[in-house]
Amino acid sequence: MELDIQVCSRARLSRDARFDGKFFIGVLGSRVYCRSICPAPTAKEKNVRYFATAAAAAEAGFRPCLRCRPECSPGTPAWLGTPSTVSRALRLIAESGLDHDGVEGLAERLGVGARHLRRLFVQHLGATPSAVAQTRRLHFAKKLIDETKLPMSEVALASGFGCVRRFNAAIRKVYKRTPMQIRHLARLSAPQAENQYVFRLRYRPPYDWNGMLRFLAARATPGVELVEGEEYCRTISANGSDGYISVRRDEANDALVARVQFGDPRSLFLIVERLRAIFDLNSDWAAIAPNLKADSLLAKRVETEPGLRVPGCWSGFELAIRAILGQQITVKGATTLAGVLVRTFGRPISGAGKLTHVFPAPQVLAEADLADIGMPRARIETIRAFSRAVCDGRIRFEGILAAEEFLASLCEIPGIGKWTAQYVAMRALGEPDAFPSGDLGLLRALGLGSPRQLEQRAEAWRPWRAYATMYLWNVAGESKATPSRSLPPTRHGISVEERSSRSSETVAI
Ligand SMILES: [Zn+2]
Repeated sequence: MELDIQVCSRARLSRDARFDGKFFIGVLGSRVYCRSICPAPTAKEKNVRYFATAAAAAEAGFRPCLRCRPECSPGTPAWLGTPSTVSRALRLIAESGLDHDGVEGLAERLGVGARHLRRLFVQHLGATPSAVAQTRRLHFAKKLIDETKLPMSEVALASGFGCVRRFNAAIRKVYKRTPMQIRHLARLSAPQAENQYVFRLRYRPPYDWNGMLRFLAARATPGVELVEGEEYCRTISANGSDGYISVRRDEANDALVARVQFGDPRSLFLIVERLRAIFDLNSDWAAIAPNLKADSLLAKRVETEPGLRVPGCWSGFELAIRAILGQQITVKGATTLAGVLVRTFGRPISGAGKLTHVFPAPQVLAEADLADIGMPRARIETIRAFSRAVCDGRIRFEGILAAEEFLASLCEIPGIGKWTAQYVAMRALGEPDAFPSGDLGLLRALGLGSPRQLEQRAEAWRPWRAYATMYLWNVAGESKATPSRSLPPTRHGISVEERSSRSSETVAI
C-alpha cells in the first residue's frame, strides 16, 4: 500500500475530515495512533508515521488514541485500489469476522492460498487478515464500552471475543486500561432506554442526506419503513429477533446518529455494519468526484449536488421482492402492493409507533398464497420461485464472492431479468462499479440509442459507475416531461426504474 505522504501531511495539518479513515497517523513519542481529524496538538512531521489502516498502525505497535477515537472513523473505502481478492476478503470479514475457520477458511473460500492472502493484505493494507479482524473487534468493543451501558460480559460477546477473560486481556493490552476505566473516562451521561443503543456513524463529507432521504422515501414500504421529517426509520430482523432503528444526520459532526432498539446485543455488530451499507458510509467522495466531473453531463450535477451516495439495503431479499413487485407498475402502485404484502404476511411488531411489521421472511413467501394480493399470476410465481431459491440457499446475499455468479443465479428465476438483477446487485452488494447497462432511463438521460453506446460512455466513469447511475436517474426523473425522440414517451408517474424494468424485462423474459 502506497500512501501519498504529501497528501497525508496536508490532510493531517489541516485536520481535513474528507480524509478521515483513509489513513491513520502514528505518533512516535506517545506510541498512539490517531485519525486525521484528531484535536490533539499536531506533532512534528519527523515524529509521525502514516498507515493505510488502523490494523497496520496497531501491528506496528501503536495504541488507539483515546481523544480522536479511531474506532469512530468511517470504514475503509474502495479508494484503496485493492485487488478484488482483498476487497472481497474485507467484505467477508465485515460480515462474519474470522470466527469460524480463521485465515485458512477465508483463503479457501476466496480460492487462494492462506500465505498468498496474507501477502496481499500486507501489501495493500499494511496488515494481516487476522490483525484486520482483531482491530475491528477491538474497535467495536471500544464503541460499545463508550456508547452503551451494556454490561462488560455482553460487550465481550457482542464484539466477538467469546469470553470475558480474553476481552479484558485484549482491552488492557491495547488501551492500558480496564474496560471499566475506559467507560468511566467516557462519562456516559445520556440516559438510554432499555435495549436501546445510540451509535454515531461517521462519514467523510460532503454527504447529500436529503438526496438519500428522497430516494428512500419514494420507495418506503408502509409498515416497515418510514421517512418522517429528516429521519429514516425501519423495522429490522436479525438472528431470530425483531427490532427497529431510526437514523438522522448530525451535520456538525459529519455523522449519522442511529438509534437501535434491539433485544439481543450479539446482533449489534451486524446491525451497525448493515446501517453503514444502507447509507454508503465508507464512500469516498474526494476520489469519486474527479472521475464523474470528466463527463460533461455529470459535471454540473457533481457541482450542484455534491456528496451523493448509492443507497444500499437492509436485506437483499426484501429489496429483490420490492423490485419484482414494481415490475410494470407505478412506484405508487408498487408501494401499495408492498404494504398489502407486509400486512398479510409480515410479522407484527409492537411499540414501534407507525412501524407495524417486519418484512415477511423467505420461508413465509415461498409458501404464501398470494392470489388475493392483486398481482398477475406470473409475478406471483416469480415471488414464490425466488423465495424458494433463497430458502434452498441457491440464492444468497451474504458471503458473495463474485457479482457475475450472483447475477446469473438471480436471472435463473423466471420473471427476473437482467435489469432487476443488476439493480438488486447494485444496491445489495455495494459494488461501486455496478451498472445496469440496459437501463432505458440512463440511455434517455444521455440521449444515447443503444446499451453498447452506453457501456462505451460509462468506461470513463469506472470504477464509480453506480454513482453515475444515481445521478443520471435524477436527471432522467426530471426530464420525464420531455422525452427524447429516440424512445417512446412514458406513462405519467412511472419512475425511471420501473419504466426501465418494464422495457428490458419484456425483452429478457
Ligand atoms: Zn488522536
